Amino acid sequence: MQTSNVAKPRHGFQTDDPALEPIAEKVQRGERLNFEDGLALYRSGDILAVGWMANLVRERLHGDLTYFNVNRHINPTNVCVAACKLCAFGRKKGDPAGYTMALEEAWASAGEGYSEAVTEFHIVGGLHPDLPLEYFLDLVRGLKQRYPQGAREGIHDGGSGVFRQAIQAHDRAGAGTAA
Ligand code: SF4
Repeated sequence: MQTSNVAKPRHGFQTDDPALEPIAEKVQRGERLNFEDGLALYRSGDILAVGWMANLVRERLHGDLTYFNVNRHINPTNVCVAACKLCAFGRKKGDPAGYTMALEEAWASAGEGYSEAVTEFHIVGGLHPDLPLEYFLDLVRGLKQRYPQGAREGIHDGGSGVFRQAIQAHDRAGAGTAA
């Protein structure tokens, strides 16, 4: 339980979800939430009220400061075996609108608009059924060679974590790459 250094909210809490009211009281008192609270937050449709609580905690911890990460997006392929309902990006293998970048294309894409301010390459792509792990390892290695000033890479793979786990396993084996 945290009772000190509680931020004073600038706007009062409002919600049309009764399940959030006791949680908001706990958040304002600085009390730790429990598992059931987490489920209620997850199930609530009142995203603004949830955001109000999140912001209260954020300002309590960090003051009225916000930090931004400058990243450069790379989308090496839109070919994907998944079919997420929210997605307007992925294409099935064989779709005429599908594409897969050669590594040189992906590295060139990373360089477009690149500046010293970039702190991350954000690699977002479909779950291609045929691209080998080596493609992604070479992609990351090539980025490190071309942009050695400390840019780190983040790989999105539809939330599966498969690529990240595979590359981390490769790291542990001594490949010297990062994800
Ligand atoms: S995994 Fe990514 S690219 Fe594939 S369908 Fe889902 S959101 Fe789209």
